[in-house]
Amino acid sequence: MASTDIHVHVIVIPLMSQSHLIPMIDLSKQLAERGLIVTIITTPRNALRYQATINQAILSGLGIQLVSLPFPCNKAGLPEGCENLDSLPSPHLQTKFLVATSLLQTPLESYLANIDPKPNCIISGLPWTSDVAHKFNIPRFAYQGISCFTLLCSHKMVLHKVHENNEYDNEPFLVPDVPDKIEFTYAQLPKMMKRSSPHIGDGIDIKDIRDQFNQACSSAEGLLVNTFDELEFEYVKSYQKAVMRNVLCVGPLSLCNKMEKDTSIIDEHHCLRWLESMKPRSVVYVCFGSLCHLRPKQLIELGKGLEASNFPFIWIIRDVDYNEEIDKWIINENFEEKVNGKGIVIKGWAPQVLILSHPSTGGFLTHCGWNSTLEGVSAGVPMITWPMFAEQFYNEKLIVQVLKIGVRIGVEVTMHWGEEQNEGIYVKWETVRNAIDKLMCEGQEIRKRAKEFGEKAKKAVQKGGSSYLNITSFIHHLSQTLVTK
Ligand code: UDP
Repeated sequence: MASTDIHVHVIVIPLMSQSHLIPMIDLSKQLAERGLIVTIITTPRNALRYQATINQAILSGLGIQLVSLPFPCNKAGLPEGCENLDSLPSPHLQTKFLVATSLLQTPLESYLANIDPKPNCIISGLPWTSDVAHKFNIPRFAYQGISCFTLLCSHKMVLHKVHENNEYDNEPFLVPDVPDKIEFTYAQLPKMMKRSSPHIGDGIDIKDIRDQFNQACSSAEGLLVNTFDELEFEYVKSYQKAVMRNVLCVGPLSLCNKMEKDTSIIDEHHCLRWLESMKPRSVVYVCFGSLCHLRPKQLIELGKGLEASNFPFIWIIRDVDYNEEIDKWIINENFEEKVNGKGIVIKGWAPQVLILSHPSTGGFLTHCGWNSTLEGVSAGVPMITWPMFAEQFYNEKLIVQVLKIGVRIGVEVTMHWGEEQNEGIYVKWETVRNAIDKLMCEGQEIRKRAKEFGEKAKKAVQKGGSSYLNITSFIHHLSQTLVTK
C-alpha cells in the first residue's frame, strides 16, 4: 500500500463548498492510501458532514484526520452556522464568507506552530494559505477544481483581452492561441470576466478576488488538477506551458470511491433500488449541483418536460428550491402519480456518483459544474448541458464541442449566482423533452464516445495510469524535499 517509507505529512485546506470538499477529501484518501499522513483543515459543521467518511477511512487503516478550526461567522457578519457556501441564505453574502474563510489563517498558524515536525506540504488554492506556507517555510501545491480547458481559455482571454473588445454581447469571438477553434460570446462569460468591475457585495470587486486566486496558483510549486491527461491532453500541455508551472492531473478524484458494489448503500437509497429494476442505459439523471437555484416557474417547466419525454428519470430538487409553490404544483398536478413507475423526484441530496455509475443510467441533464461533468465522464454517461453560471459554459464547450459527448439544451446567457431567479432565461418544457429524446434516441455516436472516455478515466486512476503516476511523482517530489532537508 505505502509507496514511501518516510512519513510525509500533508495539510489539505479546501474552500468550504461541496464542490471543493468532496474532491479534496477524495484526494486526501488517495494520498493516505499511498502512505502519506493527511490532515484536512475545516470547520465544525463541515467536519460533521464528513466525519463518517473519514472514520471509515481511519478504520481501514489510513493515516487521515479532520481538524476543525472555529469559524468566525459573527466576526465576519455571517449568520451563525453558515460554514459552507451551500448554507448561505443569500449568495450576496459570499464576500463575507470569503472574509470569514481568510480569518482561519490565525487559528491555522497557531495549530501549525504546535506541530513538530512541521508538515511537508500544504495543498490549497486559497489565497491566504500562501502566506501561511511562506511563514512556516512549507511547500504549497494549489488544488484546481476546474478543467485545464477552462484554465487555458480564461488565461488566454485575460491575456489578450479579446472578450473586452467585443462590441455585441451575442457576437461570437475566437479564443486566441488554444488547441481548437473555440468561440464564446460575451454573454456566456462568468461575472469575473465582465468588462465593468462587478461587485459581489461589500464593495469588493470580483476581479480582485479572481486575481488573488490566480496569484495563489502562480506562487504555488505546482498545481494538482482534478482532471486526467487523456481527457484534455492538449489543453493540459498548453496550460502548463502558458503558466510555466508543474501541472499534475490527478483525477477523476471521485473514482477513488468504490462504494458502488456495497449493497448496504443500495438498500439505503430507494432510487438505487429503483434503478435496479430499470432497463440498462434507459434512465436520465437530472441534477443542478449544490448551489444553483431554479425558480419555481422553471422547475415546473422542467417537470413537464420530464413527464413528456419518453424516458424514465431521477430528478433532484434542492431543499431550498422545494418551496410551497413547487409542493403545491406536485400535489395539484398529481405529478408523482402521473410519473409513477417512470420517474422519481428526490428532495435534497442524492448519491450522485452512485446514480451515475449505475448501469441503468443512460443520460445526465447537468448544470455543467466541473465535478458533475467529470463524474458524468467517469461513468461514461452522455450529457445534456444546461450551464448557468461561473465556468459552466466553458464546461459545456468542452463536453459538446471538444469531447463530443453531449448535446446542448440551448441556453445562451450566463446567470450569476444568486440571480437565477431573474426573468429572461427560461427553458420551455418542449425544449427539455426534445433534448432528452435527441440524446437518448439519436445519440449513438455520442454515447459510444462517452463510454470510451469513461474507460479512459478508470484507467487513468488505476495503478500505472496517468493520474496514478502523477500522484506518484507528487509524492516523490515531497519525499525528495524531505531527504534534502
Ligand atoms: N452532489 C451530490 N448530490 C446532489 C447534488 C450534488 O452528490 O444531490 C455532488 C456532486 O456529485 C458533485 C458536487 O456535489 O460532486 C457538485 O459539484 P459541481 O462542481 O458539479 O457543482 P456546484 O455544486 O459547485 O455547482
